[in-house]
Amino acid sequence: MRYLSTRGGGKPQRFSDILLEGLAPDGGLYVPESWPRADLAAWRGLRYPELAAEVLRPFMDDVPALEAIVARTYTRAVFGSDDIAPLKTLEPGLHLLGLSNGPTLAFKDMALQLLGALFEDVLARRGRTLNVLGATSGDTGSAAEHAMRGRERIAVFMLSPHGRMSAFQAAQMYALQDPNIHNLAVEGTFDDCQDVVKQVNADAAFKARMRIGAVNSINWARIAAQVVYYFWGYFRATRSDAERVDFAVPSGNFGNIYAGYVARRMGLPVSRLILATNENDVLDEFFRTGRYRVRRDVRATSSPSMDISKASNFERYAFELVGRDSKRVTTLWEQLARDGEFELPGASGFVSGKSTHDDRLTTIRQLHEKYGVLVDPHTADGVKVGLEQRAAGVALICLETALPAKFAATIAAALGREPPRPARFEGLEQLPQRVEVIMPDARAVKRAIEAAQA
Ligand SMILES: *Cc1c(COP(=O)(O)O)cnc(C)c1O
Repeated sequence: MRYLSTRGGGKPQRFSDILLEGLAPDGGLYVPESWPRADLAAWRGLRYPELAAEVLRPFMDDVPALEAIVARTYTRAVFGSDDIAPLKTLEPGLHLLGLSNGPTLAFKDMALQLLGALFEDVLARRGRTLNVLGATSGDTGSAAEHAMRGRERIAVFMLSPHGRMSAFQAAQMYALQDPNIHNLAVEGTFDDCQDVVKQVNADAAFKARMRIGAVNSINWARIAAQVVYYFWGYFRATRSDAERVDFAVPSGNFGNIYAGYVARRMGLPVSRLILATNENDVLDEFFRTGRYRVRRDVRATSSPSMDISKASNFERYAFELVGRDSKRVTTLWEQLARDGEFELPGASGFVSGKSTHDDRLTTIRQLHEKYGVLVDPHTADGVKVGLEQRAAGVALICLETALPAKFAATIAAALGREPPRPARFEGLEQLPQRVEVIMPDARAVKRAIEAAQA
């Protein structure tokens, strides 16, 4: 499989060449040249790692050790059960797909655990090293650190806003004692962290010399890893490959639901992809009106991992909507930079809706009363919109993107008590922490990276 940029620049690349990259050099996102075909009949009975190998092989055909990598990644030891992503049936035709049983209790582990193993493999084959530099407001940073900890040839430098994350989120990162993990707590906001990362990346000489890389949500391998669980969920929720299902997905950067779109392009019988946003409703507006309008401000909500002003993976879907016309994509994104919006009609197979703080609390309460399940605020957004859009006679699979233990305050607001915490997280906040507090200054970050190279 070769990969193209959505903006049409450069030559097609192999998977191993785009794995360590973020954006393509022309500013576009990498997409596969063609969609592989699913073999539903052959795949239905497979175990999770076997299914993952089948789904991923065409996308990663230049990774000779793929089977072994996948088998080492999707294990009971890491994800808590042999099912990896267990499907819970709430009532006939209504299911919750559990994607949050990895080390950091959010679905990002499903992709980042694989990414860590793929990075290690490609770096070993090429005899090189990588310094991963990133900024986080919470979930991504901890998932990335847990995926990269202890890996050969990789170090992580993660910027986080000092004193602005929950104690639990901070401890998930700062309590890691692995020497290749470096937590830099910035005196400032998440935006300050992102600005500093941009400044460091703007120094091309430093970036090349220090082999700086990223693990951001536009990385193609993360998308590919997420395609697997759409197949898995479908096989668990249906009896025959003739059935169609709907998926409800709480969305921020459009990575998770875009993986569902890829699964459908590969032949998975998905009737509709139901997209849910929180109060930051860029994507809901697009799927209702055809108007894509980035926001100047991001609202801080109680489903914080969906607080975005623009959806970084959206360009991949727009590329398909315009019939893979990269000139048209380039023009649209120029227009976006100039006017802050564009119109792009013709989306199909998606429906959308929005969920607010009150909706979230109500949904958490209702699911608890009716089915005895406890869901996190992001999952609640997806379930709320999924139920609104539910179609008679079509199974609805709602993706569970985090566990409630991560968002105890909102659960307490909904139910009047805190959610249970998995045993391995007891006392997490009391563990010794490894973190360096720095000013929002690119020089401080460069110093930290250089000092760690010895
Ligand atoms: C990242 C995240 C989302 C949003 O996923 P996207 O791929 O950005 O659309 C939803 N829920 C949780 C818990 C997340 O961490």
